[in-house]
Amino acid sequence: MPPGSDAITIWSLISVRREAVDSAHLLRHEQEHVRQWRELGPFGFLHQYLGAYVSGRWHGFGHRAAYRMIPLEIEAEDAARRFMESGGGAGGGGGASLP
Ligand SMILES: [Zn+2]
Repeated sequence: MPPGSDAITIWSLISVRREAVDSAHLLRHEQEHVRQWRELGPFGFLHQYLGAYVSGRWHGFGHRAAYRMIPLEIEAEDAARRFMESGGGAGGGGGASLP
C-alpha cells in the first residue's frame, strides 16, 4: 500500500485499507479505476496515470496536488461523487458490489 493512499487498484484487484472498507465512495472510486484499467489496458492506464503524476511533480506540484490533477483520478472522483449523489451509498449493503 503506497503511503498516504487509502486504496490502490491493480487490474481488477482492489486493495483497500481495513479502516476504509466501509466507504462506498472509495469503493466506487476504485471500481472506476478498474473500468479505466480494462478500457485502456495495463500499459495505457499506467502510462496515463504515471505520466500525469510525474508531469505534475515535474511542474513543481507536491504529491497531493499532483495526485489530484491526474485526469484518471478526477474521472474516478466524479464517478464516485455521482454515485453517492444518486443515493448509491445510502441504505447500507448492496450499494457497491465488487466485480
Ligand atoms: Zn483513485
